[in-house]
Amino acid sequence: MASINLKDIVKVYGDGYRAVKGVSLDIAEGEFVILVGPSGCGKSTLLRMIVGLEDISSGDLYIDGERVNEDAPRKRHLAMVFQNYALYPHLTVFENIAFPLRLERGQFTEEQVREKVMFAAETLELVEHLDRKPANLSGGQRQRVAMGRAIVRDARAFLFDEPLSNLDAKLRGQMRTEISRLQRRLGTTMVYVTHDQTEAMTLGDRVAVLRKGELQQVASPRGLYEQPRNLFVAGFIGSPPMNFLPGQVDGDVLRLPVVDVPLTDALRERLGDRDLVIVGIRPDHFADVAALDDDKLATGVTFDAVVDVAEWLGSEQYAYIPFETHPDVAAKLDELDRDLDGESMRTQLVAALSSENRVRDGDTRTLWFDPARMLIFDHNTWENLTFDADAARAIDDQNEEDRKQALARAAKPAAAPAA
Ligand code: ADP
Repeated sequence: MASINLKDIVKVYGDGYRAVKGVSLDIAEGEFVILVGPSGCGKSTLLRMIVGLEDISSGDLYIDGERVNEDAPRKRHLAMVFQNYALYPHLTVFENIAFPLRLERGQFTEEQVREKVMFAAETLELVEHLDRKPANLSGGQRQRVAMGRAIVRDARAFLFDEPLSNLDAKLRGQMRTEISRLQRRLGTTMVYVTHDQTEAMTLGDRVAVLRKGELQQVASPRGLYEQPRNLFVAGFIGSPPMNFLPGQVDGDVLRLPVVDVPLTDALRERLGDRDLVIVGIRPDHFADVAALDDDKLATGVTFDAVVDVAEWLGSEQYAYIPFETHPDVAAKLDELDRDLDGESMRTQLVAALSSENRVRDGDTRTLWFDPARMLIFDHNTWENLTFDADAARAIDDQNEEDRKQALARAAKPAAAPAA
């Protein structure tokens, strides 16, 4: 396994298009890092530059501290696992895994090939399938065969380019768990590209969010969710997405379309002399007052809302509440939607409520939220004015601690069953 360091990496394509605009990122040995962003943000380009399939226009790429910009892909000893697995249908699982070794004609004896394939097959729980053909395997097993190939090559890191995007939702979920488990077991450095924020949130130790060739934020999934640096990250991470409302500052009050919120001194200071901001509230930060005790109720503000549409999903329900927006904010949010590849309707608020007390279309409900959990963004620069650097660091430190523990646990051989 290896560390990978990117220093101010730029990619300008032949036609002059700047696909990657100076990305710096340090990936530690044994870390699982996800590159995520909407289509066209430059994540595949970045991955291909790391593996050596694409020239680096400027900047430096280090693997284990050594600059490798000019090294051929083979010399970098990285293994790419592709979306379509690229397995050979006429070869057995054994021969598919052995394939990279066979390419190195004469380098390995039959004995060595066997040893390496068996090691990979045991790690991946494929031993009983070695004589089968890929067509007879499940999607998950095929993915493991593709990873087996990477293992026999003694790759220093595995790079994944949207490996699950062709699978159906259920299989994708299973494969996510499988890849996480494997990463822990192997302790291999992995870099994984996806446009799917759920995949990014559930898989990675750290997630790097890209927008138009620029890194927006690198943090743990929880760090991104709770302390997004800007409006783009806030809108990209989370499902259903964060609600964005116009907020008009009026003295000590922040006027939202649904309710007036008293401003604390600390918040007032962060807002500076701005009189219009974008306010972000997560759907799950709303509650129906009927479901709250008095103590909780006292910590927040309440407002009456007419629920246009209610969706009941069993574990929770979503209430959609239309609101009047501000034209300046609407223009900014349209821009954000285009960036996010989304078509969400920003002039309705989504509240994720407990499913016990069922809401019906047209109902009027009194909803509650805690203003301390609002995120407030500059409507021009998109900066999160409520970003709390100390809280963000604490979340990521805890995440790093958890990662090390998980790796250590996975490295320990399983205890023998009691006699
Ligand atoms: P992503 O993987 O995030 O969807 P890519 O890295 O594939 O994005 O592409 C980033 C941008 O670079 C896109 O706008 C794409 O059109 C452009 N691009 C990709 N390959 C080339 C190429 N060979 N020549 C010119 N532009 C390219």
